[in-house]
Amino acid sequence: MNKKESIAIVGAGIVGATTAFYLSSEGYDVTIYDEGTGQATSAAAGIICPWLSQRRNKKWYQLAAAGAAFYPTLLHDLNEDAADSDIYRQVGTLVFKKSPELLTKLEKIALKRRELAPEIGELAILSPAEIKTKLPLIETNQSALFASGGARVDGSLLTRKLLDTAILNGAEYLNEKAQLISSNNGTYSISTTKETQPFSAVILAVGAWLPEILEPLGFSVDIRPQKGQLVYLEVAKETKDWPVVMPDGEKDIIPFPNGRIVVGATHENDEGYDLTLTEEKLTAMLNEASNFAPSLAKAKIKEARVGTRAFTSDFAPFFGEVPQSPKLYVASGLGSSGLTSGPIIARMLTQLIMDKPTDLPISDYPVARYIKKIARNS
Ligand SMILES: Cc1cc2nc3c(=O)[nH]c(=O)nc-3n(C[C@H](O)[C@H](O)[C@H](O)COP(=O)(O)OP(=O)(O)OC[C@H]3O[C@@H](n4cnc5c(N)ncnc54)[C@H](O)[C@@H]3O)c2cc1C
Repeated sequence: MNKKESIAIVGAGIVGATTAFYLSSEGYDVTIYDEGTGQATSAAAGIICPWLSQRRNKKWYQLAAAGAAFYPTLLHDLNEDAADSDIYRQVGTLVFKKSPELLTKLEKIALKRRELAPEIGELAILSPAEIKTKLPLIETNQSALFASGGARVDGSLLTRKLLDTAILNGAEYLNEKAQLISSNNGTYSISTTKETQPFSAVILAVGAWLPEILEPLGFSVDIRPQKGQLVYLEVAKETKDWPVVMPDGEKDIIPFPNGRIVVGATHENDEGYDLTLTEEKLTAMLNEASNFAPSLAKAKIKEARVGTRAFTSDFAPFFGEVPQSPKLYVASGLGSSGLTSGPIIARMLTQLIMDKPTDLPISDYPVARYIKKIARNS
């Protein structure tokens, strides 16, 4: 696409903000619309560790592993020191399993995966005493697998930096709800309460709200929302170097700098787009986390957050151009791992716009499987 042409990006979560950053860095004329409500990115726990997942979808794994590997490049492109940034840091991940046999099995899988994904870093099964040295809050008699390449990312800080840089590059940011309008000549406009503006290309990075924006144009969209809540605690310790803890079947514990600890998250499939924080769920999460870190029961609760994840019916993400709709691009269905895969998806959207080869084959993440034209009523 010609760099003088204008591009609208709807949604400024991890996908929209990263795409805005890269396209504006390339000199494109970018306008970002973001309404903000329910955003998954700013509510995310922040775990980047796809290699120890036992999910069997190869294409998902390829994308998530490429996403994790891409983070240091993203930080570098943002002029952040990946080795010492409050936004992202490879602090390592501790993964627990129900039995020593399962832990050994996981270590084998991880060693095999490391052959193609060196980012996973050092792998070791740590004893309870070794775990306590790394993370003094943890009280356990179980061992855990430690992967030094595991990271935590602060979704809010990252999108803030991406958007600020995009704006410095000349992008326009509008805190508005956008409506997509298609015209008879196949072009698109974005309409807000204030104005309607035509664009040469539109990128819909609206996460779980893709049905809401596309269905009025006669598309059916296979996306459903999943509610996620989490709690932010504060402890009087320096937590900057503490690893992420992933207990088996219980809530994760994600330490951030300055004593901030996130516990979460819920996966609620029957709540639609509801954004109510529920005390019962938050208390249950804190109780689970206290099983591993008893002192968290007494930690100060700073805040709780809630966001909406986007899932397809087969749990796979998709991105690219909408069939029969030239210059209309989408990315959605990132589910529980979108903070991991979002930046690499954004880079591939940028590559598509620039007619460059993509990092991964986009046919592995086909939009046509999830978005179908059913009627034309606009
Ligand atoms: C509680 C929770 C914990 C999570 N933990 C992790 C984790 O540890 N690791 C991980 O990798 N992933 C995690 N995820 C998943 C990850 O956060 C998401 O997959 C990812 O952030 C999705 O990014 P997105 O840009 O597609 O959508 P979003 O971040 O949801 O952004 C979409 C944006 O579009 C805006 N929007 C929608 N419609 C319109 C419109 N019409 N006009 C204007 N703006 C609009 C929304 O308001 C929103 O700001 C978690 C998610 C949740 C909710």
